[in-house]
Amino acid sequence: MSLLNVLKEPNETLRTKAVDIDPAEIQRDRVQSLIDDMIATMYASNGVGIAGPQVGAHERVIIVETGRGAAEAFVNPKIVSASFRKVDSEEGCLSVPGVFGIVKRHKNVTVEAYNREGQKVKMKAGGLPAIIFQHEIDHLDGVLFIDRVEKYTSPPRL
Ligand code: ZN
Repeated sequence: MSLLNVLKEPNETLRTKAVDIDPAEIQRDRVQSLIDDMIATMYASNGVGIAGPQVGAHERVIIVETGRGAAEAFVNPKIVSASFRKVDSEEGCLSVPGVFGIVKRHKNVTVEAYNREGQKVKMKAGGLPAIIFQHEIDHLDGVLFIDRVEKYTSPPRL
């Protein structure tokens, strides 16, 4: 396992839409190693989530602290339904160090993805995991929380 370099904004990779991973590839060493390294990197940075583009991978894989044990990997994650109700979420990002702000997020989301065993999974999330899913899936589309921020609680670096 090795720690990966976390890219910092501004960076073109962070702004590039990531591509799906072939589900048949998920159990191969390359993807499994990427997942292990992303989990190690997330923990080393005290994060609760991390997305492929943040470590320079143009691939749709995220790690989420789901609150049901160890952090979990989700490959090709999609939000298939979201609550009408939104909540104010105070967020930061490993790729935008020192910056925090309020973002509106759906209170609950349902996510479909593949797990690291290559099986299709569907997960309903609320609370913090729901926020993490939305933040990390945004990363896969080249979107950062600072694009959505309504009010900074710690000013952005200029
Ligand atoms: Zn982030």
